[in-house]
Amino acid sequence: MSAIIIDGKKISQDIKDELKKEVEELNQKNIFPGLAVVLVGNDPASKVYVNNKKKACEYIGIKSFSYELPEETTEEELLNLIDVLNKTKEVNGILVQLPLPKHIDENKVLLSIDPIKDVDCFHPYNVGLVSIGKTDGFLPCTPAGIVELIKRTNIEIEGKNCVVVGRSNIVGKPVSQLLLGNNGTVTTCHSRTKNLSKVCQEADILVAAIGKAQFIKEDMVKEGSVLIDVGVNRLEDGKLCGDIDFEGCKDKASAITPVPGGVGPMTIAMLMKNCVKAAVMQN
Ligand code: NDP
Repeated sequence: MSAIIIDGKKISQDIKDELKKEVEELNQKNIFPGLAVVLVGNDPASKVYVNNKKKACEYIGIKSFSYELPEETTEEELLNLIDVLNKTKEVNGILVQLPLPKHIDENKVLLSIDPIKDVDCFHPYNVGLVSIGKTDGFLPCTPAGIVELIKRTNIEIEGKNCVVVGRSNIVGKPVSQLLLGNNGTVTTCHSRTKNLSKVCQEADILVAAIGKAQFIKEDMVKEGSVLIDVGVNRLEDGKLCGDIDFEGCKDKASAITPVPGGVGPMTIAMLMKNCVKAAVMQN
């Protein structure tokens, strides 16, 4: 039996359309959500990400304020800008595109963002709220996108064996927490996990956030499982692929996300959701 191919493009479009409606309603109440997008330096991939975020803002009706700073920007200059943005009423959310140039302390910058404007949900205050189960504030974008993909495909998380491969602060750890919050039984794996294959074979829902092309093979997954692929890897021929061997696994799974077109588009949709939430929280 062939798996359901979870269409992240379609689901993210649905979310953006819902948000567009919500913003129209907010506008009626004189609430105009605004996002400051800060980019330091010339990293081409970062430029693409920032442009996609600005485009999504435009579609939904969120005002975006763009700050494109030169590579030589000092840490102090960046912190000063964030200080101003923290105090600017029209700016509900502040997004600093990572990675920052090496001479700037990323952690210091993320800590300087007012938690109420931290739409990436990277500030320890917001990370802490998520970890104690408070999920009515900001949610981490990629992890929340994954949960949304699962729920909107009518897949139950409660009681399921969820295995997350990866424990990074932006994906692995927070997605484990959200799945736990949804009453999954969660195992988080990493590079030191013993018998990884065996652990993965027990997963009803398997989330791969490793960063290694086609690492999860057919013999590692359970028949009928739900496979969520976060990985974005470029193959030698230039094509993108995930951390899961899609072709090998798709006939064994009950549902699977493609790369591209699965988790990727959800990240921006959930960022937009946080921006709208920020405007509501601040008004
Ligand atoms: P990191 O490199 O920060 O984390 C990778 C994780 O995988 C680590 O916890 C590491 O373990 C684990 N790992 C590495 N090798 C193995 C192995 N052989 N066996 C088991 N575990 C292993 O990556 P990110 O979490 O930032 O990203 C993961 C992938 O997701 C990347 O491809 C990235 O591009 C993609 N991504 C996609 C997004 C999207 O919107 N679609 C958003 C963010 C990321 P250890 O901790 O022990 O080193």
